[in-house]
Amino acid sequence: MTDKQPTREVPEVVARARAAQPAWAALSAEERVKRIAPLRDRVLGRAEAIAALVHDEVGKPVVEALLGEVLPTADVVDYWSSVIVELLDPEEVEIDAIAYPSKDATVQREARGVVGVIMPWNFPVALPLRTIVPALLAGNAVVFKPSEVTPRSGALIVELFEGLLPEGLLGLVQGGGDAGAALCAADVDVVVFTGSVATGRKVAHACAERLVPCALELGGKDAAIVLGDADLDRAAQGVVWGAMMNAGQNCASIERVYVERSVSEAFTKKVREVVASLRPGVDVGPLATAAQRATVARHVEAAKSAGAEVLEGGDAGPAKGDAAKPAAGDARAQGEAARAYPPTVVQVEGDDTPLMSDETFGPVLPIAVVDDVERAIERANASRYGLTASIWTRNKKKGRALAARLRAGVVTVNNHGFTGAIPAMPWSGHGETGWGITGSPFALESLTRPRLVLVDRSRGKRELWWYPYTPALTAIALAMATVRNHAAGLVARITAVFRLVSAMLARGRDA
Ligand code: NAD
Repeated sequence: MTDKQPTREVPEVVARARAAQPAWAALSAEERVKRIAPLRDRVLGRAEAIAALVHDEVGKPVVEALLGEVLPTADVVDYWSSVIVELLDPEEVEIDAIAYPSKDATVQREARGVVGVIMPWNFPVALPLRTIVPALLAGNAVVFKPSEVTPRSGALIVELFEGLLPEGLLGLVQGGGDAGAALCAADVDVVVFTGSVATGRKVAHACAERLVPCALELGGKDAAIVLGDADLDRAAQGVVWGAMMNAGQNCASIERVYVERSVSEAFTKKVREVVASLRPGVDVGPLATAAQRATVARHVEAAKSAGAEVLEGGDAGPAKGDAAKPAAGDARAQGEAARAYPPTVVQVEGDDTPLMSDETFGPVLPIAVVDDVERAIERANASRYGLTASIWTRNKKKGRALAARLRAGVVTVNNHGFTGAIPAMPWSGHGETGWGITGSPFALESLTRPRLVLVDRSRGKRELWWYPYTPALTAIALAMATVRNHAAGLVARITAVFRLVSAMLARGRDA
C-alpha cells in the first residue's frame, strides 16, 4: 500500500481481495448499501481537503476539483445506493408452458468476483469511484491501481472507505505500467480500465491471454458542430468551457469545432473574446505533466506548419499571468509554470494534422469552417474515436435528428460533456474510444454476470426430449416444425397438428 509497492506483491493484494469477497457477496444488497452509505458524507465533509489534494497533485483549479471530483462522487454513492437493490433483484423469465411445462426460471445478477480497476490521472478521485462504488455494492472485491501521477488521490480513495469494508476487500496497488500489467496478469475476474488507447490495447491483450473480460474507456477527439441558427453567445461560452475545462485534459474535451460558414466569423470572434478573458491558473490550470504539455505544443506547431492560423494563445513559452512568475524557491509554482500552456484557438482547414485527428488533451480549440451541416457531420464522424459530440442549434428537432447521425456514445444539443458527472447516464464510446460503459444500469454488465436458475416442478418420469430417441420423437419434431412454420400454409399446418397428436400418443408408448 505504498508508492514503492513492489509489483510482485500484486498477486497477494488480489488474493486478499478474493478471500474477502464471498462473505461480502453473501450479505444482502441492502446491507452493503448500509455499509457504504457513510462514504457520501465523508466525501462531502472533506470536500475542501480533497479538492486541495487534487489541485496539488494535478494542478486543476480547486473549484474544478469541487465541481468535477467531490460533488459527482457524492452523487455516485446516492445513485447506486438507490438503485442497486432493485437492479440485483432476481428477474423471472417467462417460459412457454406447453413446450416446457412446470418450470420456473429466474436470472440473478452475480458479482464477478475481483474487479481490477486501473485509472488515469485526469479525474483522480471521481473516475475511480464511479466504478469502485457500484462494483462493491454489486458484491465484488476491488483491487485499484491509480495513475502513478496521482498516488495520493489513489491512497485517499481507499482511506475514505476506512472501517466500512471487510479487511482486504478493497486493495490498493501503487505504481506505473508494471503495476498495471501485474494487476491484469493477476487472478482478477475482470479489468475495468480507463486511459489511453495505447495502454488500453495492452490491457485488452493481457485480458485476452487470461480469457477474462475487460471494459475499456479510452481517448476521444470530440467534435462540436455549430449550426447557422445557433445561439452564438451560448455556443461560444459552452464550446470554450467544453474545450478548456481541466485544461482540456478531459476525454470528452471539445477538440474540433465545425462551424457553418454563415456564422463562422461571428462565432469565432465570440470564442476569441471568451478565451482571451480566461485567467491562467484560475480558470485554466497547468497541464498535469511535462509530457502532456509537450504533446499539446507539438500538435499546435504541426498544425501551424501545415498552414493553420493561431488566433489566440499557442505560444510555446509559459502562460501569461501569475503562474508564469513563480516566487524564487517555490518549486511547485515553478513546476506549474513550466507545465502551463495558454488557452489557444486555432483556425484550421483540413483534418489531416494531429491537432484534428489525434487526442491533444490540452487547452486548444481548433475551429474549421464548413459549407453545410452535411459536411460537418461527415467530418465529425470521420474519426477513429467516438466518445461525445455536441450540436449547437436553436432548432431542437433538428438537433435531435442530427444527434442520431453522430458516431458518438454521448451526444448533447446546446451543451457539452458534463453528463459524465451524472451517474444515471451511460458514458460510452465508439471505435478506439473502447467498449466500456460507466454510469446507468448498463455499467453493471462489466461488474456482474447473469446466472440463470431453473427449478423444475414436474413429477413426470422424463422429458419429451430425453432418451430413448424413437421414430415417434422424430415425428413430433417434424410435426412441430410444420405447425410453427407460418409459410407452410393453413392446410399443411392443420394436418401437422393431427400428426403431432398421434406422434405424442406413440411417444407415450415408448419404453
Ligand atoms: P495511460 O494509458 O497512460 O494510463 C492509464 C493507467 O494505465 C495508469 O494507471 C497507468 O499506470 C496504467 N498502465 C500503464 N501501462 C499499463 C499496462 N501495460 N497495463 C496496465 N495498466 C497500465 O492514460 P493516462 O495518461 O493516465 O490518461 C489519459 C487518457 O485517459 C486519455 O487518453 C483520456 O482520453 C483517457 N480517459 C478516458 C476516459 C473515458 O471515460 N473514456 C476518461 C478519462 C480519461
